[in-house]
Amino acid sequence: MPVAPSTCGELLAQCLASNRLIIGQILLGGDYSMRHVDDAHHDKLEQFTSPQDARNIARYDEQGEFRPLKTAPNLRRGWRLKLASLEELELALEYFYPASLGLWLSFLKGTLKTTSLRETLDRQTGMYRITQLLKPDQAVDLVSKCCAPQGSEGGGCLRTILWDLAPGEPLTGLPEEKLSLQDLPPDRIPLICRELCNLVVAAARPIAKGNLPKKD
Ligand code: SF4
Repeated sequence: MPVAPSTCGELLAQCLASNRLIIGQILLGGDYSMRHVDDAHHDKLEQFTSPQDARNIARYDEQGEFRPLKTAPNLRRGWRLKLASLEELELALEYFYPASLGLWLSFLKGTLKTTSLRETLDRQTGMYRITQLLKPDQAVDLVSKCCAPQGSEGGGCLRTILWDLAPGEPLTGLPEEKLSLQDLPPDRIPLICRELCNLVVAAARPIAKGNLPKKD
């Protein structure tokens, strides 16, 4: 980056100017357009022009199933979104990948705060309080199933995990590029995960329940 950007808009403008055009499964165009990265060479695409269209495109996958995790690698194809300005492009990006630019900007400024998996589970209350019983090896297994780019159980997530397993205890068991931005390709805008999301907390619950002491 030439000059340190101070806003998400400036960051996005620098990305466009430096051909850093891929974010998750989306390819950006210098003309404020967006399309699925696998549609880079397709021109028979359904055309959209409003940032709000991004919200509808992001809502369902190819099979018409709701996408609870916007960074799951199941964004549907076949569309092109042509926006009128940088501001509209930024807003559409926010619908596709919430907070992605803001998190990266914080990372670049050195102000990004992360929360370890253990701290996230320890602050759970109500029906998710039981997740505090999750053991470290179960946590590593769960994260590799839910968070890997192609999760072993059909899910998966494109975010790069920057949180630890516990304070001072790095997460292991995933490829290096999933845990660090050090080798970020020059054409990529990163998707950062700063703490465990609710979907993985929910997935931890039945596993942690199995750790309850057995009743006689
Ligand atoms: S915890 Fe982060 S990396 Fe894992 S699925 Fe949730 S958002 Fe993605």
